[in-house]
Amino acid sequence: MSVAEIFQTMDYGPAPESAAPAQEWLATHTEGFGHFIGGVWTVAASHFPSTNPANGKVLAQIGQGTDTDIAAAVAAASAALAGWKALGGSQRARFLYALARQVQKHARLFAVLETLDNGKPIRETRDIDIPLVARHFYHHAGWATLLETEYPGYEAVGVCGQIIPWNFPLLMLSWKIAPALAAGCTIVLKPAEFTSLTALLFAQICQEIGLPPGVVNIVTGAGATGAALVAHPDVHKIAFTGSTEVGRQIRQATAGTGKKLTLELGGKSPFIVFEDADLDAAVEGVVDAIWFNQGQVCCAGSRLLVQESIEPRFLAKLKRRMETLRVGDPLDKVTDIGAIVAPIQLTRIDELVRAGVAEGAILFQPVTACPEEGYFYPPTLLTGVSPASRVVQEEIFGPVLVALSFRTPAEAVALANNTPYGLAASLWSESINQCLETAPKLKAGTVWINGTNLFDAAAGFGGYRESGFGREGGKEGLWEYLVASPLPPAQRGDNRGNEGNHYISPVGRGAGGLDQTAKLYIGGKQARPDSGYSRSVLGPGGAHLGEVGEGNRKDIRNAVEASRAASSGWGGASGHNRGQILYYLAENLSYRTAEFAARIAMQTGHDGASEVDAAIAQLFFWAAWADKNEGAIHRTVQKSVVLAMPEPLGVLGIACPTEQPLLGLIQFVAPAIALGNAVIVIPSEVHPLSATDFYQVLETSDVPGGVVNIVTGERDTLMKTLAEHDDVDGVWYVGENASLIERASVGNLKRTWCLKPGALPRHDVFLRTATQVKNIWIPYADELPW
Ligand code: NDP
Repeated sequence: MSVAEIFQTMDYGPAPESAAPAQEWLATHTEGFGHFIGGVWTVAASHFPSTNPANGKVLAQIGQGTDTDIAAAVAAASAALAGWKALGGSQRARFLYALARQVQKHARLFAVLETLDNGKPIRETRDIDIPLVARHFYHHAGWATLLETEYPGYEAVGVCGQIIPWNFPLLMLSWKIAPALAAGCTIVLKPAEFTSLTALLFAQICQEIGLPPGVVNIVTGAGATGAALVAHPDVHKIAFTGSTEVGRQIRQATAGTGKKLTLELGGKSPFIVFEDADLDAAVEGVVDAIWFNQGQVCCAGSRLLVQESIEPRFLAKLKRRMETLRVGDPLDKVTDIGAIVAPIQLTRIDELVRAGVAEGAILFQPVTACPEEGYFYPPTLLTGVSPASRVVQEEIFGPVLVALSFRTPAEAVALANNTPYGLAASLWSESINQCLETAPKLKAGTVWINGTNLFDAAAGFGGYRESGFGREGGKEGLWEYLVASPLPPAQRGDNRGNEGNHYISPVGRGAGGLDQTAKLYIGGKQARPDSGYSRSVLGPGGAHLGEVGEGNRKDIRNAVEASRAASSGWGGASGHNRGQILYYLAENLSYRTAEFAARIAMQTGHDGASEVDAAIAQLFFWAAWADKNEGAIHRTVQKSVVLAMPEPLGVLGIACPTEQPLLGLIQFVAPAIALGNAVIVIPSEVHPLSATDFYQVLETSDVPGGVVNIVTGERDTLMKTLAEHDDVDGVWYVGENASLIERASVGNLKRTWCLKPGALPRHDVFLRTATQVKNIWIPYADELPW
């Protein structure tokens, strides 16, 4: 045999990691695990088995959490809250640091246990999951220390219910627990049924480091246990990672309760390869994108989009690489692809692949043999698919890649955005211009340039659209566990800087004509209401002041269409340009102060002049912010810079407060449009005439048609229609019926912001609520000179 032939035939020998330490630990719990509540272990009423997906054997008996267990855990977390908050960030940092150290000290045990329980290769648990877990606790120990200076005026939201999936059991635990502890929250966490073991070992290290009892509670169990946690009235915040379907249920269940909510849901992330990409690097990227963790990754690059000119060459290289992937014993250090978590998941993958083939997809699987025992699925490539086919649209959550081609960058963007999801995207090109041109156009919370599946505690992670809302990690992630501290009474009032206004002109045009019928304002034009009806507007004494249009569903549809058409141009305009238009609005409103003041007084019986002054000041304030809502550059462990860019949500529906008909409108519309959103506004139902007068100011101030649309009528009915509309990205609602609005929002999981009448959030809350952060990872120097 020649040396060349020896190289050809050489193979890896088995290199198994010993399961002994994990098995010894499990052997000390043969009676079955209880729950970790109030710092002690309870005896569970009943158990269910946790199995090893690599061989189907039972590893342990896990406690089935009941409503009583959840109630006890929430009570323990509530009792611990005041003390944990009062400890202060610096003291809490010591506990986070101790947790990080303990995770590192037990790293091998955690890694082996995770691999046994989940089926993922030991190489991944050892080199990725567990180091990242430690990193999360270290990083958030830092945020705990810096909390008071970096988040002034904010405090812990309270008791947090956290529900995590099975694909990264300990990593997802750390993503949830580390920021919550740093913020001063206490926690009840429910791990996934399939993978509770590392969470239970983590509970043990919480005991070892002397974490105060009740600060972290772990209740294991099924979906019903999670549902009981979501429903518990003493939980202030729910953080969930899992399927979009369960995310919707949780949105419904929390609607109107005032609980803070973050959802990290599914995805169907595009992996885009341009013709000038380094093809070999991109092939390795695909391996990481879809075969990491058997493709059971919410942000897996499961849709390969390749430029047509290189498609045959790229797919040939990819197939060759697939032939070398090793499927097998997850504890073997040379295994690339381990076991699928459970038979039900294996069946789902298989069914979806068969459905794809039935729809005409061409199946490619390498000749790799999968082990007979356990739940294994080979790496799979489906070509010849159409953009609408099921396998291209649905999350398969397995080692299955679908491939499509595109001709132009514009087509790549259109295909990439052609799903309801928006979790992540990966771009491959040697041209940084091409990548930076494309990244802003993608509807995705994370964009990796010439990389994929990169995670770090310093960079926020989370979705656009139906991939959920909220961010985990980075400075932005900590906001999700904080609320503004109540201000002392002396400081209440408008803290948004509406002092000083040099534009008020005494010149006005009088009170305007009486008994007019104001139309709606859609797409920059006044429009008759579809219903043909109008409603009377009465003054404080019951006098008839005029009429406004009675808007209906059709008017809302038209307004949404107009907003959508305007939103990309407006959102893409520079902050400077938007700021100029807000200044112009302020100036034009100030010329009509007397007229607007008189109209306000006529409707409400209150002094209108000070309200107009305050509205003008608000326009100034938000004009100032239009070009100052800067993002951040995150410093990650990897050799990357991560640009955290706040982007507008897109199309926003806004229901204004009833009182203060002009100021109530401006307070919400000005920040929304300053930050690049197009809006559909439902003005005060009782005093709508200031809003309809405002059309003329909009028309004379260069506001592009469709950026601000105003539909008068029954506020809650119109707002419900907006909340149900799948082409609206967010709704802001001031009123008493938050439950109605939040429930209606589940269709496309739009962002909702519901406030009680009279609530006046701080300006930074507006900045965060009007935008969502896109994290763009850019490779940055292999070796740094310092
Ligand atoms: P789920 O969304 O059902 O599970 C996630 C977590 O929520 C688990 O802890 C689960 O408990 C719990 N849960 C289930 N129902 C409820 C409920 N009504 N209220 C509160 N908590 C609940 O995901 P699955 O594990 O069932 O996986 C199904 C599919 O979801 C996968 O095929 C995949 O497509 C997708 N998925 C996506 C993930 C992501 O990160 N994007 C992660 C996991 C799954 P239990 O484990 O006991 O069911």
